[in-house]
Amino acid sequence: MIPERYDTIVIGAGLSGMAAGIRLAMFGQRVAVLEQHYLWGGLNSFYKRGGHLFDTGMHALTNYVPKGTRGTPLARVCKQLRISHDELNLLPQKTSQVVCAGHRVRFSNQVELLIEEIGRCFPARVDAFVALVDELRDAPLGEPDPSSARERLTARLGDADLVDLLLVPTCYYGSARENDVDWDQFVILFRSIFLEGLAMPAEGIRPFLALFKDRLVAAGAELRLKSDVARIEVEGGAARAVVLADGTRLATDRVISSAGWVETMHLCGEALESEHVRPGDAGRLSFVETICVLDRWPHELGPDMDAAVIFYSTGERFRYERPDRLVDVSSGVISMPTNFAGTPAEREPLFRVTVLADHERWVALEEDEYVARKQLLSDAALEATTAFCADVRPHETFRDVFTPRTLTKYTRKLGGAIYGSPRKRPDGSTPVAGLYLCGTDQGFLGVIGAAVSGISIATQHAMAAR
Ligand SMILES: Cc1cc2nc3c(=O)[nH]c(=O)nc-3n(C[C@H](O)[C@H](O)[C@H](O)COP(=O)(O)OP(=O)(O)OC[C@H]3O[C@@H](n4cnc5c(N)ncnc54)[C@H](O)[C@@H]3O)c2cc1C
Repeated sequence: MIPERYDTIVIGAGLSGMAAGIRLAMFGQRVAVLEQHYLWGGLNSFYKRGGHLFDTGMHALTNYVPKGTRGTPLARVCKQLRISHDELNLLPQKTSQVVCAGHRVRFSNQVELLIEEIGRCFPARVDAFVALVDELRDAPLGEPDPSSARERLTARLGDADLVDLLLVPTCYYGSARENDVDWDQFVILFRSIFLEGLAMPAEGIRPFLALFKDRLVAAGAELRLKSDVARIEVEGGAARAVVLADGTRLATDRVISSAGWVETMHLCGEALESEHVRPGDAGRLSFVETICVLDRWPHELGPDMDAAVIFYSTGERFRYERPDRLVDVSSGVISMPTNFAGTPAEREPLFRVTVLADHERWVALEEDEYVARKQLLSDAALEATTAFCADVRPHETFRDVFTPRTLTKYTRKLGGAIYGSPRKRPDGSTPVAGLYLCGTDQGFLGVIGAAVSGISIATQHAMAAR
Protein backbone atom coordinates (compact mmCIF):
# COMPACT_ATOMS: atom_id res chain seq x y z
CA MET A 1 0.00 0.00 0.00
CA ILE A 2 1.28 3.50 -0.84
CA PRO A 3 1.24 5.54 2.36
CA GLU A 4 -0.34 8.99 2.46
CA ARG A 5 2.30 11.69 1.90
CA TYR A 6 2.39 15.20 3.34
CA ASP A 7 4.78 18.12 2.81
CA THR A 8 4.84 18.63 6.57
CA ILE A 9 3.34 16.76 9.48
CA VAL A 10 2.72 18.68 12.69
CA ILE A 11 2.46 16.73 15.94
CA GLY A 12 -0.01 18.31 18.36
CA ALA A 13 -3.00 20.62 17.96
CA GLY A 14 -2.10 22.98 20.80
CA LEU A 15 -1.64 26.65 19.98
CA SER A 16 1.86 26.20 18.53
CA GLY A 17 0.92 23.22 16.33
CA MET A 18 -2.23 24.89 15.02
CA ALA A 19 -0.34 28.13 14.26
CA ALA A 20 2.38 26.20 12.40
CA GLY A 21 -0.26 24.26 10.46
CA ILE A 22 -2.14 27.43 9.44
CA ARG A 23 1.05 29.10 8.22
CA LEU A 24 2.19 26.11 6.17
CA ALA A 25 -1.22 25.49 4.64
CA MET A 26 -1.57 29.18 3.74
CA PHE A 27 1.56 28.80 1.67
CA GLY A 28 0.21 25.84 -0.21
CA GLN A 29 1.75 22.92 1.64
CA ARG A 30 -0.11 19.68 2.18
CA VAL A 31 -0.17 19.55 5.98
CA ALA A 32 -1.62 17.22 8.58
CA VAL A 33 -1.90 18.30 12.23
CA LEU A 34 -2.06 15.14 14.33
CA GLU A 35 -3.58 15.32 17.80
CA GLN A 36 -3.85 12.35 20.18
CA HIS A 37 -6.77 13.89 22.13
CA TYR A 38 -10.31 14.19 20.74
CA LEU A 39 -10.13 17.97 21.23
CA TRP A 40 -7.76 20.68 20.04
CA GLY A 41 -6.07 23.27 22.27
CA GLY A 42 -3.50 21.11 24.13
CA LEU A 43 -2.69 22.64 27.52
CA ASN A 44 -5.21 25.36 26.76
CA SER A 45 -8.32 23.39 26.04
CA PHE A 46 -11.80 23.09 27.57
CA TYR A 47 -14.12 20.53 29.12
CA LYS A 48 -17.50 20.10 30.77
CA ARG A 49 -18.01 18.74 34.29
CA GLY A 50 -21.03 18.73 36.59
CA GLY A 51 -22.90 20.89 34.08
CA HIS A 52 -20.17 23.56 34.10
CA LEU A 53 -17.98 24.53 31.16
CA PHE A 54 -14.36 24.99 32.18
CA ASP A 55 -11.29 26.26 30.38
CA THR A 56 -8.24 24.09 31.11
CA GLY A 57 -5.32 26.48 31.20
CA MET A 58 -6.70 29.97 30.86
CA HIS A 59 -5.86 32.32 33.70
CA ALA A 60 -5.03 35.34 31.63
CA LEU A 61 -3.66 35.77 28.17
CA THR A 62 -0.24 37.41 28.41
CA ASN A 63 1.22 39.68 25.68
CA TYR A 64 -1.98 41.75 25.48
CA VAL A 65 -1.67 45.01 23.58
CA PRO A 66 -4.52 47.25 22.40
CA LYS A 67 -5.63 47.10 18.79
CA GLY A 68 -3.28 48.94 16.44
CA THR A 69 -0.10 48.39 18.50
CA ARG A 70 2.54 47.17 16.08
CA GLY A 71 5.65 45.05 16.39
CA THR A 72 4.51 42.93 19.33
CA PRO A 73 3.91 39.16 19.55
CA LEU A 74 0.12 39.58 19.56
CA ALA A 75 0.24 41.86 16.49
CA ARG A 76 2.46 39.32 14.74
CA VAL A 77 0.09 36.43 15.48
CA CYS A 78 -2.90 38.43 14.17
CA LYS A 79 -1.06 39.53 11.03
CA GLN A 80 0.50 36.22 10.11
CA LEU A 81 -2.54 34.07 10.83
CA ARG A 82 -4.89 36.67 9.38
CA ILE A 83 -6.95 36.91 12.53
CA SER A 84 -8.16 40.38 13.46
CA HIS A 85 -7.69 41.80 16.95
CA ASP A 86 -11.47 42.38 17.13
CA GLU A 87 -12.20 38.72 16.43
CA LEU A 88 -10.15 37.70 19.48
CA ASN A 89 -12.58 39.70 21.61
CA LEU A 90 -10.08 40.36 24.39
CA LEU A 91 -10.97 42.05 27.67
CA PRO A 92 -7.97 43.75 29.32
CA GLN A 93 -7.32 43.30 33.01
CA LYS A 94 -8.06 46.09 35.43
CA THR A 95 -5.39 45.17 38.00
CA SER A 96 -3.54 42.13 39.27
CA GLN A 97 -1.34 41.66 42.32
CA VAL A 98 1.86 40.07 43.56
CA VAL A 99 1.75 39.17 47.25
CA CYS A 100 5.25 38.34 48.48
CA ALA A 101 7.65 39.00 51.35
CA GLY A 102 4.96 40.82 53.32
CA HIS A 103 4.14 43.23 50.45
CA ARG A 104 1.12 43.48 48.19
CA VAL A 105 2.04 45.09 44.89
CA ARG A 106 -0.61 45.94 42.30
CA PHE A 107 0.04 46.15 38.60
CA SER A 108 -2.01 46.85 35.50
CA ASN A 109 -1.39 46.95 31.77
CA GLN A 110 0.36 50.29 32.31
CA VAL A 111 3.80 49.65 33.82
CA GLU A 112 3.62 53.00 35.66
CA LEU A 113 1.41 51.42 38.36
CA LEU A 114 4.00 48.71 38.99
CA ILE A 115 6.77 51.31 39.23
CA GLU A 116 4.69 53.37 41.68
CA GLU A 117 3.98 50.31 43.82
CA ILE A 118 7.63 49.21 43.84
CA GLY A 119 8.47 52.80 44.88
CA ARG A 120 5.99 52.54 47.76
CA CYS A 121 7.32 49.18 49.02
CA PHE A 122 11.03 49.50 48.10
CA PRO A 123 11.77 53.26 47.97
CA ALA A 124 15.55 52.76 47.98
CA ARG A 125 15.37 50.46 44.95
CA VAL A 126 12.94 52.21 42.66
CA ASP A 127 15.58 53.98 40.52
CA ALA A 128 17.36 50.67 39.88
CA PHE A 129 14.00 49.11 39.02
CA VAL A 130 13.14 51.88 36.53
CA ALA A 131 16.55 51.39 34.86
CA LEU A 132 15.84 47.66 34.65
CA VAL A 133 12.43 48.26 33.06
CA ASP A 134 14.05 50.52 30.44
CA GLU A 135 16.65 47.89 29.69
CA LEU A 136 14.09 45.09 29.41
CA ARG A 137 11.87 47.18 27.14
CA ASP A 138 14.67 47.53 24.59
CA ALA A 139 16.44 44.18 25.08
CA PRO A 140 16.85 42.28 21.80
CA LEU A 141 14.93 38.99 21.81
CA GLY A 142 16.03 35.69 20.37
CA GLU A 143 19.60 35.53 21.74
CA PRO A 144 19.84 32.43 23.97
CA ASP A 145 21.01 33.37 27.46
CA PRO A 146 20.50 30.69 30.10
CA SER A 147 22.24 32.72 32.83
CA SER A 148 20.41 33.00 36.16
CA ALA A 149 17.76 35.74 36.32
CA ARG A 150 17.90 35.46 40.13
CA GLU A 151 21.62 36.30 40.16
CA ARG A 152 21.34 39.08 37.62
CA LEU A 153 18.37 40.68 39.36
CA THR A 154 20.11 40.42 42.74
CA ALA A 155 23.16 42.18 41.31
CA ARG A 156 20.97 44.90 39.77
CA LEU A 157 18.42 45.44 42.52
CA GLY A 158 20.28 44.37 45.67
CA ASP A 159 17.16 43.31 47.54
CA ALA A 160 16.22 39.64 47.90
CA ASP A 161 12.55 40.45 48.67
CA LEU A 162 12.18 42.53 45.52
CA VAL A 163 13.88 39.83 43.47
CA ASP A 164 11.46 37.22 44.85
CA LEU A 165 8.57 39.53 44.07
CA LEU A 166 9.60 39.69 40.41
CA LEU A 167 10.34 35.97 40.21
CA VAL A 168 6.95 34.76 41.50
CA PRO A 169 4.98 35.84 38.38
CA THR A 170 7.75 35.08 35.90
CA CYS A 171 8.40 31.60 37.31
CA TYR A 172 4.71 30.73 37.56
CA TYR A 173 3.95 31.91 34.02
CA GLY A 174 6.66 29.97 32.32
CA SER A 175 9.84 28.82 34.03
CA ALA A 176 10.88 25.20 33.59
CA ARG A 177 13.89 25.81 35.83
CA GLU A 178 13.62 25.27 39.56
CA ASN A 179 13.95 28.36 41.79
CA ASP A 180 14.99 30.53 38.87
CA VAL A 181 14.34 31.60 35.28
CA ASP A 182 16.83 31.65 32.40
CA TRP A 183 17.61 35.30 31.66
CA ASP A 184 16.34 35.17 28.05
CA GLN A 185 13.05 33.67 29.31
CA PHE A 186 12.83 36.26 32.08
CA VAL A 187 13.07 39.06 29.52
CA ILE A 188 10.27 37.53 27.44
CA LEU A 189 8.07 36.81 30.46
CA PHE A 190 8.60 40.21 32.09
CA ARG A 191 7.65 41.95 28.87
CA SER A 192 4.67 39.72 28.23
CA ILE A 193 3.23 40.20 31.76
CA PHE A 194 4.27 43.73 32.76
CA LEU A 195 5.16 45.72 29.62
CA GLU A 196 2.47 44.27 27.39
CA GLY A 197 -0.18 42.92 29.75
CA LEU A 198 -2.98 40.57 30.65
CA ALA A 199 -6.37 40.03 29.04
CA MET A 200 -9.12 37.44 28.82
CA PRO A 201 -11.10 36.34 25.77
CA ALA A 202 -14.61 37.58 26.62
CA GLU A 203 -16.20 34.14 26.30
CA GLY A 204 -13.18 32.15 27.50
CA ILE A 205 -10.89 29.91 25.48
CA ARG A 206 -13.47 28.03 23.33
CA PRO A 207 -14.29 30.72 20.77
CA PHE A 208 -10.64 31.80 20.80
CA LEU A 209 -9.52 28.28 19.87
CA ALA A 210 -12.34 27.97 17.36
CA LEU A 211 -10.77 30.87 15.44
CA PHE A 212 -7.50 28.95 15.17
CA LYS A 213 -9.20 25.68 14.26
CA ASP A 214 -11.39 27.32 11.63
CA ARG A 215 -8.38 29.13 10.10
CA LEU A 216 -6.50 25.84 10.01
CA VAL A 217 -9.25 24.02 8.19
CA ALA A 218 -10.02 26.98 5.89
CA ALA A 219 -6.36 27.19 4.90
CA GLY A 220 -6.59 23.58 3.74
CA ALA A 221 -4.72 21.72 6.50
CA GLU A 222 -6.07 18.41 7.79
CA LEU A 223 -6.75 18.35 11.52
CA ARG A 224 -6.67 14.68 12.48
CA LEU A 225 -7.95 14.20 16.03
CA LYS A 226 -7.53 10.96 18.02
CA SER A 227 -4.34 10.46 15.99
CA ASP A 228 -1.77 9.29 18.46
CA VAL A 229 1.76 9.40 17.03
CA ALA A 230 3.56 6.29 18.25
CA ARG A 231 6.78 6.64 16.26
CA ILE A 232 8.74 8.97 14.01
CA GLU A 233 10.55 6.90 11.39
CA VAL A 234 14.13 8.04 10.95
CA GLU A 235 16.23 6.77 8.07
CA GLY A 236 19.79 7.86 7.38
CA GLY A 237 19.50 10.51 10.07
CA ALA A 238 16.40 12.12 8.50
CA ALA A 239 12.66 12.00 9.30
CA ARG A 240 10.80 9.92 6.72
CA ALA A 241 7.36 9.17 8.18
CA VAL A 242 5.24 9.12 11.29
CA VAL A 243 3.44 6.02 12.42
CA LEU A 244 0.23 6.27 14.44
CA ALA A 245 -0.71 3.97 17.31
CA ASP A 246 -3.23 2.22 15.03
CA GLY A 247 -0.43 1.41 12.57
CA THR A 248 -1.26 4.09 9.95
CA ARG A 249 1.95 5.28 8.27
CA LEU A 250 2.08 8.87 7.00
CA ALA A 251 5.07 9.67 4.79
CA THR A 252 6.82 13.05 4.94
CA ASP A 253 10.25 14.66 4.88
CA ARG A 254 9.37 17.27 7.50
CA VAL A 255 7.91 16.92 10.96
CA ILE A 256 7.26 19.78 13.37
CA SER A 257 6.61 18.46 16.85
CA SER A 258 5.02 20.36 19.71
CA ALA A 259 5.12 17.29 21.95
CA GLY A 260 8.28 18.42 23.80
CA TRP A 261 12.00 17.67 23.40
CA VAL A 262 12.24 14.50 25.49
CA GLU A 263 8.84 13.24 24.30
CA THR A 264 9.80 13.81 20.63
CA MET A 265 13.16 12.06 20.94
CA HIS A 266 11.33 9.16 22.59
CA LEU A 267 9.18 8.91 19.45
CA CYS A 268 12.38 8.62 17.37
CA GLY A 269 13.37 5.36 19.08
CA GLU A 270 15.56 4.18 21.89
CA ALA A 271 18.91 4.58 20.14
CA LEU A 272 18.42 8.27 19.30
CA GLU A 273 16.78 8.97 22.64
CA SER A 274 19.63 7.52 24.66
CA GLU A 275 22.24 9.22 22.47
CA HIS A 276 20.74 12.72 22.69
CA VAL A 277 18.59 13.09 25.78
CA ARG A 278 20.71 14.07 28.75
CA PRO A 279 20.01 13.69 32.47
CA GLY A 280 18.10 16.75 33.59
CA ASP A 281 16.40 17.30 30.22
CA ALA A 282 13.00 16.22 31.56
CA GLY A 283 10.99 18.93 33.31
CA ARG A 284 10.41 18.55 37.06
CA LEU A 285 7.71 21.13 37.69
CA SER A 286 4.07 20.21 37.75
CA PHE A 287 0.96 21.67 39.30
CA VAL A 288 -2.37 21.00 40.98
CA GLU A 289 -5.17 23.38 40.13
CA THR A 290 -8.38 23.82 42.13
CA ILE A 291 -11.31 25.44 40.36
CA CYS A 292 -14.23 26.67 42.46
CA VAL A 293 -17.52 27.83 41.01
CA LEU A 294 -18.83 30.59 43.28
CA ASP A 295 -22.36 31.75 44.09
CA ARG A 296 -21.31 35.39 43.54
CA TRP A 297 -18.63 37.41 41.79
CA PRO A 298 -15.33 37.35 43.68
CA HIS A 299 -15.07 41.14 43.90
CA GLU A 300 -18.15 41.06 46.16
CA LEU A 301 -16.17 39.08 48.74
CA GLY A 302 -13.62 41.67 49.81
CA PRO A 303 -11.43 44.63 48.91
CA ASP A 304 -8.55 42.63 47.40
CA MET A 305 -10.81 40.32 45.45
CA ASP A 306 -11.00 42.55 42.39
CA ALA A 307 -7.68 41.32 40.98
CA ALA A 308 -7.61 39.35 37.73
CA VAL A 309 -4.61 37.34 38.94
CA ILE A 310 -2.78 37.15 42.29
CA PHE A 311 0.71 35.65 42.26
CA TYR A 312 1.71 34.82 45.82
CA SER A 313 4.43 33.47 48.03
CA THR A 314 3.83 33.30 51.78
CA GLY A 315 7.11 31.67 52.87
CA GLU A 316 10.11 33.63 54.08
CA ARG A 317 11.75 33.01 50.69
CA PHE A 318 10.02 32.08 47.41
CA ARG A 319 10.37 28.33 46.73
CA TYR A 320 9.78 27.22 43.15
CA GLU A 321 10.82 23.60 43.06
CA ARG A 322 9.34 20.13 42.88
CA PRO A 323 7.93 19.64 46.39
CA ASP A 324 9.00 16.67 48.56
CA ARG A 325 5.29 15.99 49.17
CA LEU A 326 2.14 15.97 47.05
CA VAL A 327 1.80 19.78 46.95
CA ASP A 328 3.50 22.88 48.26
CA VAL A 329 0.91 25.53 49.06
CA SER A 330 3.41 28.20 50.17
CA SER A 331 3.25 29.83 46.76
CA GLY A 332 0.94 29.80 43.78
CA VAL A 333 -1.30 31.71 41.40
CA ILE A 334 -4.92 32.69 41.90
CA SER A 335 -7.00 33.48 38.86
CA MET A 336 -10.40 35.17 38.92
CA PRO A 337 -11.44 35.08 35.26
CA THR A 338 -14.48 37.35 35.73
CA ASN A 339 -12.35 40.25 37.04
CA PHE A 340 -11.55 41.67 33.60
CA ALA A 341 -12.96 44.94 32.22
CA GLY A 342 -16.33 44.26 30.59
CA THR A 343 -16.77 40.59 31.60
CA PRO A 344 -20.22 39.50 30.33
CA ALA A 345 -22.71 39.17 33.21
CA GLU A 346 -23.60 35.61 32.18
CA ARG A 347 -20.09 34.24 32.79
CA GLU A 348 -19.88 31.93 35.76
CA PRO A 349 -17.84 33.34 38.68
CA LEU A 350 -14.74 31.19 39.23
CA PHE A 351 -11.82 31.18 41.64
CA ARG A 352 -8.83 29.10 40.51
CA VAL A 353 -5.73 28.40 42.54
CA THR A 354 -2.64 26.65 41.18
CA VAL A 355 0.16 25.29 43.36
CA LEU A 356 3.32 23.23 42.79
CA ALA A 357 2.99 19.44 42.92
CA ASP A 358 5.14 16.32 42.71
CA HIS A 359 4.08 14.23 39.72
CA GLU A 360 5.60 10.94 40.97
CA ARG A 361 3.79 11.07 44.28
CA TRP A 362 0.44 11.71 42.57
CA VAL A 363 0.99 8.88 40.08
CA ALA A 364 1.86 6.41 42.85
CA LEU A 365 -1.49 6.86 44.67
CA GLU A 366 -4.14 4.13 44.56
CA GLU A 367 -7.46 5.36 43.10
CA ASP A 368 -9.32 5.79 46.46
CA GLU A 369 -6.37 7.57 48.00
CA TYR A 370 -6.02 9.74 44.88
CA VAL A 371 -9.62 10.93 45.11
CA ALA A 372 -9.34 11.61 48.86
CA ARG A 373 -6.04 13.50 48.50
CA LYS A 374 -7.41 15.66 45.72
CA GLN A 375 -10.15 16.89 48.04
CA LEU A 376 -7.87 17.28 51.05
CA LEU A 377 -5.08 19.09 49.28
CA SER A 378 -7.31 21.37 47.26
CA ASP A 379 -8.74 22.39 50.64
CA ALA A 380 -5.20 23.03 51.88
CA ALA A 381 -4.53 25.24 48.83
CA LEU A 382 -7.74 27.21 49.41
CA GLU A 383 -6.96 27.54 53.12
CA ALA A 384 -3.48 28.92 52.31
CA THR A 385 -4.99 31.72 50.21
CA THR A 386 -7.03 32.99 53.17
CA ALA A 387 -3.81 34.48 54.60
CA PHE A 388 -4.08 37.29 52.05
CA CYS A 389 -7.53 37.12 50.42
CA ALA A 390 -11.13 36.23 51.22
CA ASP A 391 -12.11 32.66 52.04
CA VAL A 392 -14.19 31.59 49.04
CA ARG A 393 -15.22 28.21 50.47
CA PRO A 394 -18.53 29.36 52.02
CA HIS A 395 -19.53 30.55 48.53
CA GLU A 396 -18.42 27.49 46.61
CA THR A 397 -21.14 25.63 44.66
CA PHE A 398 -18.92 23.19 42.71
CA ARG A 399 -15.27 22.22 42.72
CA ASP A 400 -13.03 20.52 40.20
CA VAL A 401 -9.38 19.68 40.71
CA PHE A 402 -6.75 18.64 38.21
CA THR A 403 -3.44 17.09 39.11
CA PRO A 404 -0.18 16.14 37.35
CA ARG A 405 -1.90 12.85 36.53
CA THR A 406 -4.64 14.68 34.61
CA LEU A 407 -2.07 16.79 32.76
CA THR A 408 -0.12 13.76 31.57
CA LYS A 409 -3.26 11.94 30.53
CA TYR A 410 -4.61 14.74 28.33
CA THR A 411 -1.44 16.34 26.96
CA ARG A 412 1.20 13.58 27.18
CA LYS A 413 3.57 15.94 28.94
CA LEU A 414 6.15 13.75 30.67
CA GLY A 415 6.02 14.22 34.42
CA GLY A 416 3.01 16.55 33.97
CA ALA A 417 5.65 19.24 33.33
CA ILE A 418 3.63 21.95 31.61
CA TYR A 419 6.64 24.18 31.02
CA GLY A 420 8.56 21.27 29.56
CA SER A 421 12.30 20.80 29.61
CA PRO A 422 14.57 23.28 31.40
CA ARG A 423 16.89 23.09 28.35
CA LYS A 424 15.14 24.98 25.58
CA ARG A 425 16.08 24.71 21.91
CA PRO A 426 15.51 28.24 20.58
CA ASP A 427 16.24 27.39 16.92
CA GLY A 428 13.86 24.42 17.07
CA SER A 429 16.44 22.07 15.59
CA THR A 430 16.92 18.43 16.60
CA PRO A 431 19.64 15.91 15.71
CA VAL A 432 17.27 14.46 13.09
CA ALA A 433 17.22 16.22 9.71
CA GLY A 434 13.73 17.47 8.84
CA LEU A 435 12.49 17.19 12.45
CA TYR A 436 11.90 20.43 14.33
CA LEU A 437 10.42 21.42 17.67
CA CYS A 438 7.88 24.16 18.19
CA GLY A 439 6.02 25.40 21.26
CA THR A 440 6.99 24.92 24.86
CA ASP A 441 10.44 23.35 24.37
CA GLN A 442 11.45 25.78 21.66
CA GLY A 443 11.14 28.30 24.48
CA PHE A 444 8.05 30.38 23.81
CA LEU A 445 5.26 29.89 26.30
CA GLY A 446 1.73 30.96 26.95
CA VAL A 447 -1.03 31.14 24.40
CA ILE A 448 0.48 33.91 22.30
CA GLY A 449 4.09 32.75 22.80
CA ALA A 450 3.16 29.26 21.61
CA ALA A 451 1.48 30.67 18.50
CA VAL A 452 4.54 32.84 17.75
CA SER A 453 6.71 29.75 18.10
CA GLY A 454 4.60 27.75 15.63
CA ILE A 455 4.70 30.60 13.12
CA SER A 456 8.47 31.10 13.38
CA ILE A 457 9.42 27.43 13.18
CA ALA A 458 7.12 26.93 10.18
CA THR A 459 8.65 29.99 8.50
CA GLN A 460 12.29 29.25 9.32
CA HIS A 461 12.40 25.57 8.59
CA ALA A 462 9.49 23.99 6.79
CA MET A 463 8.68 26.87 4.44
CA ALA A 464 12.31 27.76 3.79
CA ALA A 465 12.99 24.14 2.85
CA ARG A 466 10.47 24.08 0.01
C1 LIG B 1 -3.00 25.07 34.25
C2 LIG B 1 -2.43 25.89 33.16
C3 LIG B 1 -2.61 27.28 33.17
C4 LIG B 1 -2.10 28.05 32.14
N1 LIG B 1 -2.39 29.37 32.15
C5 LIG B 1 -2.04 30.12 31.08
C6 LIG B 1 -2.49 31.44 30.99
O1 LIG B 1 -3.22 31.90 31.82
N2 LIG B 1 -2.11 32.19 29.95
C7 LIG B 1 -1.30 31.70 28.98
O2 LIG B 1 -0.99 32.43 28.03
N3 LIG B 1 -0.84 30.42 29.04
C8 LIG B 1 -1.21 29.63 30.07
N4 LIG B 1 -0.80 28.33 30.14
C9 LIG B 1 0.28 27.89 29.24
C10 LIG B 1 -0.18 27.60 27.86
O3 LIG B 1 -1.32 26.80 27.93
C11 LIG B 1 0.91 26.85 27.11
O4 LIG B 1 2.14 27.56 27.21
C12 LIG B 1 0.62 26.69 25.65
O5 LIG B 1 -0.72 26.33 25.46
C13 LIG B 1 1.53 25.61 25.08
O6 LIG B 1 1.16 25.32 23.76
P1 LIG B 1 1.98 24.25 22.93
O7 LIG B 1 1.34 24.20 21.61
O8 LIG B 1 3.43 24.55 23.00
O9 LIG B 1 1.83 22.88 23.71
P2 LIG B 1 0.58 22.00 24.10
O10 LIG B 1 -0.58 22.84 24.38
O11 LIG B 1 1.08 21.08 25.16
O12 LIG B 1 0.28 21.16 22.79
C14 LIG B 1 0.91 19.95 22.48
C15 LIG B 1 -0.12 19.03 21.89
O13 LIG B 1 0.54 17.88 21.40
C16 LIG B 1 -0.30 16.75 21.63
N5 LIG B 1 0.55 15.56 21.62
C17 LIG B 1 1.57 15.26 22.45
N6 LIG B 1 2.13 14.07 22.12
C18 LIG B 1 1.43 13.62 21.05
C19 LIG B 1 1.52 12.44 20.24
N7 LIG B 1 2.42 11.50 20.49
N8 LIG B 1 0.65 12.31 19.21
C20 LIG B 1 -0.28 13.26 18.92
N9 LIG B 1 -0.40 14.38 19.67
C21 LIG B 1 0.44 14.57 20.71
C22 LIG B 1 -0.90 17.04 22.99
O14 LIG B 1 -2.07 16.29 23.21
C23 LIG B 1 -1.15 18.54 22.89
O15 LIG B 1 -2.44 18.81 22.39
C24 LIG B 1 -1.32 27.48 31.11
C25 LIG B 1 -1.13 26.10 31.10
C26 LIG B 1 -1.71 25.31 32.09
C27 LIG B 1 -1.57 23.82 32.01
